[in-house]
Amino acid sequence: MCRLYHFIAIIYSGLPCILVQILGIYVVARKGEDEMNKYMEQAIIEAEKGIKNRDGGPFGAVVVRDGKIIGRGHNMVVHTHDPTAHGEIVAIREASKAMESFDLSDCELFTTCEPCPMCYSAIHWSRIPVVYYGATKEDAAIIGFDDQLLSDILPRQEKLEKIKMVQLDREGCMEVFKKYEEDDERQLY
Ligand SMILES: [Zn+2]
Repeated sequence: MCRLYHFIAIIYSGLPCILVQILGIYVVARKGEDEMNKYMEQAIIEAEKGIKNRDGGPFGAVVVRDGKIIGRGHNMVVHTHDPTAHGEIVAIREASKAMESFDLSDCELFTTCEPCPMCYSAIHWSRIPVVYYGATKEDAAIIGFDDQLLSDILPRQEKLEKIKMVQLDREGCMEVFKKYEEDDERQLY
């Protein structure tokens, strides 16, 4: 009985400590999630800027290093007459310029839509290891941006395992698609 009491007393005295630890883990995880959403929010702001200016498709991206955005961009295909000016590519170019390096292996990319094969290749060449994306390729196809042909002819369909793909805030990114579709003056390409 005495031992049991002793055991309960130890558990009881340790309980606040355990609770604090659990709370700490939760806060850290929560903070990480908020941080990620904060960057995705910036990618969405970029996409909205592109819609407002009618620069191109409704896609935005930011490159983050050490908690700081070092590159940002949205689709500029229409504005620059450049078919390669996708949001991810514009953001990667800006980040590489800021870093004066082609190696972005210590960065993360946040993009409002799952990267197309061209952007996926650019992510590979820039060595960015983690990509957070919102809407899916299927979502983009519905509003007129279908890269299925490329996916079909590329010999390997599997993603390279070295790039981690994480979906984040699809809902927020779909809102941008909706705004784009509502603009009757938008220039399709
Ligand atoms: Zn792309």
